[in-house]
Amino acid sequence: MESELEYVDCPICGPSPTRIWLNDGKLTRYVQCKTCQTVYSSPRYAKKFRHAQTIATWSFSDEMLNIESKRRPTLKLEAGLIQQHVRHGRMLDVGCSAGDFFDFFPKTKWERFGVELSESTAAYASEKHSAHVIAGTLRDAQFPNDYFDLISMIDMFYYADDTLADLVETRRLLKTEGVLAIEIAGQAYMFARSRGLVAFLLEKRWNRLSSDSHLYWFNPSGLSLLLNKAGFQPFEWYVAPSPQQENLLTNSLTRLHYFLLKSLSSRSFKSLTWAPKYLCLARRADVPL
Ligand SMILES: [Zn+2]
Repeated sequence: MESELEYVDCPICGPSPTRIWLNDGKLTRYVQCKTCQTVYSSPRYAKKFRHAQTIATWSFSDEMLNIESKRRPTLKLEAGLIQQHVRHGRMLDVGCSAGDFFDFFPKTKWERFGVELSESTAAYASEKHSAHVIAGTLRDAQFPNDYFDLISMIDMFYYADDTLADLVETRRLLKTEGVLAIEIAGQAYMFARSRGLVAFLLEKRWNRLSSDSHLYWFNPSGLSLLLNKAGFQPFEWYVAPSPQQENLLTNSLTRLHYFLLKSLSSRSFKSLTWAPKYLCLARRADVPL
């Protein structure tokens, strides 16, 4: 298995000094770029192993639908925010899973497209939401140039094999006036809640980060740099909430945290990485904002 490991550089800085950020006892581990603070998995398993694992996790099942349903309030909020900037046209949801996001983009205004790694889930999303969902990766799909008014990457960017290449492909697919919407987890928040005592109190486990499946954790300034490199300029950042929790107390605490960070975000937004989620909207850099 060790021969199937691959080493990668920081997607923003290229070859750059790193420190070991988390050794979670696997063959894979997380390192942090000392220059831009991006945390990424290296070494990591080769693509075929990771994709097989992702497909197994996100294949169609009742459990998967249940997990997805907990994100619907966040998806609804994000769809509303996005449609303040782009109101109709052709949309592509990358990593669309069961297609819940499509529900908030009415068929009368939007032609809906998706890509999803799991074949069974792609077939379900197509049928259930009257969408054109291709099973595979974004770069496999080979859509035409300047094709979409909106491309969304919601809660999936950490799975991307090559984040810069995917953004460059996105740039090719997006129309001149189009909008790219990316949701990422707040890096500091994710790390604080995912390891040690907080993780144990919330979820009865000492570590919920997994360097063999989630590849990248960006902070907002790092994601901005990556977007610039791919030919985009971010123009709006929003704070978004975590999925609903089944435990009432945990759910109340995560809601409280969301509202607190939302109210703070207007003050020192770029330096904050403590929000649960960020929704970043970007346009092509060749278009004046
Ligand atoms: Zn870096």
